[in-house]
Parts: sequence; structure tokens; C-alpha cells
Amino acid sequence: MANILQPVRGTRDLIGDDAARHFHVVETARRIAALYGFAEWQTPIFEDTKVFSRTLGETSDVVTKEMYTFEDRGGESVTLRPEGTAGVCRALITNGLTQTLPQKVFYTGPMFRYERPQKGRYRQFHQIGIELIGPATPLADAEIIAAGWRILNALGIAEAVELQVNTLGDAASRAAYREALVNYFSRYAGDLSEDSKLRLAKNPLRILDSKDEGDRKLVADAPRMQACLTAEAQGFFASLQEYLATFGVPFIHNPHIVRGLDYYNHTAFEFVTHALGAQGTVLAGGRYDGLVEQMGGPCVPGVGWAAGIERLAMLIAAPPAAPVPVAVIPMAEDYEARALAVLTLLRARNIAAEIGYAGNAKKRLERANKSGAGFAVLVGEEIRLKNLASGEQHDVTAEALPGILSA
Ligand code: ATP
Ligand code: MG
Repeated sequence: MANILQPVRGTRDLIGDDAARHFHVVETARRIAALYGFAEWQTPIFEDTKVFSRTLGETSDVVTKEMYTFEDRGGESVTLRPEGTAGVCRALITNGLTQTLPQKVFYTGPMFRYERPQKGRYRQFHQIGIELIGPATPLADAEIIAAGWRILNALGIAEAVELQVNTLGDAASRAAYREALVNYFSRYAGDLSEDSKLRLAKNPLRILDSKDEGDRKLVADAPRMQACLTAEAQGFFASLQEYLATFGVPFIHNPHIVRGLDYYNHTAFEFVTHALGAQGTVLAGGRYDGLVEQMGGPCVPGVGWAAGIERLAMLIAAPPAAPVPVAVIPMAEDYEARALAVLTLLRARNIAAEIGYAGNAKKRLERANKSGAGFAVLVGEEIRLKNLASGEQHDVTAEALPGILSA
């Protein structure tokens, strides 16, 4: 058994229960996104590196440490997408959709970050996400949050999460806040982590998102954004909270939420659970009014969120198992052709059915019993339908079968 090839660290296979949970999350999210008027997009899983390096922020953890960036054989620098928003905005621009607003986008797929793998943290993970591009009103922010809340409800985990919202203000608020933070943190510059010393010079706001314990102690007493908000930014945040109340979405205000990426303004929010240890954020997002312009498009506001499917999948109850296909069993080799005709008929009528590939009728029936199938169709001179739960059986015509089985 030497030399068995192993999966790459931080990646995992989706099989059995893991797959069932994963796809249940995706299907639930897809259904509810449609209910709110979002259309599904799929963008490439790799992009020109600049799509991410220009937008996520040069001091963000993702850009400094986590991107899978490489030169392809033509010497182009490409990056496996670490998140979905930048690609959607790139696609909005390159498909000429910035004139056709609003665009309401749902997406799902793999994301890649070079992180230290642990429970709920992988190198290839998967997200569902929505982006609402065009409207500048806080109603848009409230709608996407309500859609996220509805998805968590449909997954049965709304009770286990808390919605925390915050405002990062507008440009003027941020400039004032930045100055207040520089003043404060400069006094403790010597005590900051190496990463945060760099952030102090380049993007002091990012220090608030630090996971370093020493930093976190200083962050606890740092000045609050609230004091620096312009009247307009205050109005936006107040209006968001009113809309959330209208939609019946419970929330708390957490002034420490800043989000890990640079492109956010006004609204920032996270749905947090205590059930997953340090990996407690299951769904997170915010407003990104400058992003499309930063990518070379016109000035188009937007707001969105993404959720980690692996973290959601760990929180949900196991989804109901799919019904096991009807087992079609030839009673002897001579009846194989007839059994295949029955099999084909059932599938043509949208009834899940399968046939064993080997063994005599007795063996096949044993296997059908073990598989958990509800029925077996025994094909000999006569066609016999057997209820595998009760053991009851009776002769039927092939033509009558689909009707009986779909009843
Ligand atoms: P964290 O603080 O846990 O590192 P983040 O701020 O980097 O999260 P986002 O960029 O906001 O995460 O991504 C949105 C969601 O995607 C997260 O809330 C989480 O559920 C999920 N996620 C992010 N990184 C990973 C990962 N490496 N493995 C699994 N899920 C992840
Ligand atoms: Mg992270």
C-alpha cells in the first residue's frame, strides 16, 4: 500500500452525508435567492491576479498571505478566486451590464485561501453568496440581510446565530475615524503585533479586525466609529435598522465589526454562532460602493454577502435521505432484456430505478432489501411488484407499473 496519493492539505471530498448536507445548503439558498429575485451567475474560478490584488486591499490577510497565485504557462499571473464579489464585479463590467441596473446575483462555488486548516477552515472551501448591484438605498442592504436570514431559517439554524451589524460610514466619516485610530494606536505602537504595525501605517482600520490577542486588548478601548460618523452616514445606518425591523430580522449593533476586506463602506454585518469555536462567522458581508469604480468601471454602488457552506453544513440537522431507486430484478438470465425494457420504461416516466449488475435473483433481492429500496420489480414470465417493507407482492402489467409506483 505504499505510495497512495493523498488529497492536498486543506481540501476534502464531498461524499455521502457530507455531500447531502452540502447540496442541501446550496439548493435551499438557490431556492430562496430566487424568491427574492436573484439570478444565478457563474464566473471563472480563476481570474487575472489584479482582479483581487487591486480590490481586496494590500494589507488584507487574504492578499498578504492567503492567495493561490501563480504564473500560467503563458507567463500571466492568475489567482484562484479567494472570494466571489470581485469576480462578479469584473463580470458586471466586462459584460457591459453597468448600464442595466439593478443586477441581483446569486452564486455558489469553490473558493481558495492558503490558510492553516482546522475545523471549519479549509484551503478549498465553498460559498454561497448574493450581490445586489445598483441601488444606493439602505433598503437594498436590508433586503440582502433579510434574504440571508431567511436562508438560515430555512436551514433550521436561525436560532443558533446572532446577526451583528455595524456601519463603517462614508468616505468623510472614515477619514475622520482613520485619524482618531492613528492617534490612539500610535500611543501603543510598540505593543502592536508586527502585522498591525504595518496596518497602522497603511490601513489602521484593519487593526480592529486583528486576531492577535495583544492587539485585541488594545482594540477593546479604541475610539468608536460612532463618534466620527457624518450626519448622512448616521441617517443611512438608522434607516437600515428601521428596515431590518420592518422585515422582522433581529439584530444587535456590534461596533467592532469591520470586515476583512478593504472595499466596504456603510453597512458591515456578520451572522455569528458560538457553536463553531473560533470559526464562528457563518455569513458575512456589507456595502461596497467604490468597488466597481476601483475596477475600472463607472461609479456603481453595491451590497452583498457570502456564507461558508462547510460551516453551515456543520450546523444543520442531517437532511432527509433521497428515496432509494426501485430495484428491477430479472428472475433468470433469459429475462434480462425484458427487465431492461421495464427499467427503461420506469425511468422514462421519471421513476428512479436501477438494476443490479451481477448475481442470481435471490442475491439481487437480498441486495435490494439491504439498499433500503421501497419496491422491487421481479421480471420473469410474469412481472411481479414486491413491497420490500411488508413483503407483499402481486402480478402487474408493465404498463400499470409507473402509475402504481408514482402513486
Ligand atoms: P474568518 O474571520 O473566519 O477568517 P473571513 O472574514 O475571512 O472569515 P469572509 O471573507 O467574509 O471570511 O468569507 C465569508 C464566509 O466564508 C465566512 O464567514 C466563512 O463562513 C467562510 N470562510 C471564509 N474562509 C473560509 C475557509 N478558509 N474555510 C471555510 N470557510 C471559510
Ligand atoms: Mg479569513
